Amino acid sequence: LEMRLAHGEKMQAIGQLAGGVAHDFNNVLQGIILNNEQLMVRHPLGDPSYPNLKSIHEFSIRAKDLVKMLLAYARQQTFKREVFAVTDFMSEFHILLRQLLDERIEMEVKHGRDVPYVKADKNQLENALFNLATNARDAMLAHKNGGKLTIRTARSTGKEAQEKGFSFVSDGDYMLIEVEDTGHGMTKDVMDKIFQPFFTTKEAGVGTGLGLATVYGIIKQSGGYICTTSNVGKGTTFHIYLPALKAEEIPEPVEMTQTEKVSS
Ligand code: ADP
Repeated sequence: LEMRLAHGEKMQAIGQLAGGVAHDFNNVLQGIILNNEQLMVRHPLGDPSYPNLKSIHEFSIRAKDLVKMLLAYARQQTFKREVFAVTDFMSEFHILLRQLLDERIEMEVKHGRDVPYVKADKNQLENALFNLATNARDAMLAHKNGGKLTIRTARSTGKEAQEKGFSFVSDGDYMLIEVEDTGHGMTKDVMDKIFQPFFTTKEAGVGTGLGLATVYGIIKQSGGYICTTSNVGKGTTFHIYLPALKAEEIPEPVEMTQTEKVSS
C-alpha cells in the first residue's frame, strides 16, 4: 500500500511537471509556427524551399497536438478548480504550516486589503505553499538554526514584479502571495537553476530537486507566474501571481454563513 501511495504521488508530481513544461513548450512551438508561416508567404508553392517549409509546418502542428494532449492529461489528472478567497484558505492552512515548521521558526501571515478571489485547485496551491515552506524551513535551519517565515497576500497589478525586472509578468489583476524567509539565500547561479527538475544543493537522499519544479508546474497550470528574489546571507522571497477572478465571475453565496464570511 505504501509503495502504491508513493508511486501515486510521484505520478502526480510528474503530471504537474509535465503541465508546466508543456505550457512553456507550447509558446516555443507557437514562435516556430509563426516564423515559418512568414517564410511560407515569402517562398510560396513553386519555390524550391516550399516543400521543406511545408514539412516544418506539419511537424510543428503535430508537436502542438502532442503538447495539447499532455496538457489535457496533466490537467485532468491533477486539477480540480474551484473559486475561493485566499484569506479563507490561509486561515485553514495556517495550522498545517505551523506543524511543518518547528518552534525554532516564527511565522507570520499578513493579508492585504481587498485580496481577490481566484479559481484554482486548492489542494495544489496548498501543495505548492507546502513545498515553498519546507524549503524556507531548511534554508533557515541550515543558516541560523531558526528564523522567520512571512506569508503576505495582496491584490496586485503585476507592476512591482516588472519593476524588479520580471518582464514576463504581464499587466493584469492578480492575487499575489509572497513567501519570505530569513534563510541562507541563493547566489544567482543557484537561482537560475532552481525550477529545473532534479536540481538540488541538498545532500543526496535529502533533496530530490523536484519540489520547485512541481511548484512551477502548479503555478503555470493555474495561469500564473512565480518569481524569486534572494540575498545571500539574508533570505529569499518567492512571489506568486495568480489571475484574480473578475467580480462577475464570483458566484453568489448560497448560505448565510458564506455571506457573513465574504462581507467580514
Ligand atoms: P530540494 O528541496 O529537494 O533540493 P527543490 O526543487 O525544492 O528541491 O529546491 C531546489 C534547490 O533550490 C534547493 O536544493 C536549494 O538549493 C534551493 N532553494 C529552494 N528554496 C530555497 C530557499 N527558500 N532558500 C534558499 N535556497 C532555496
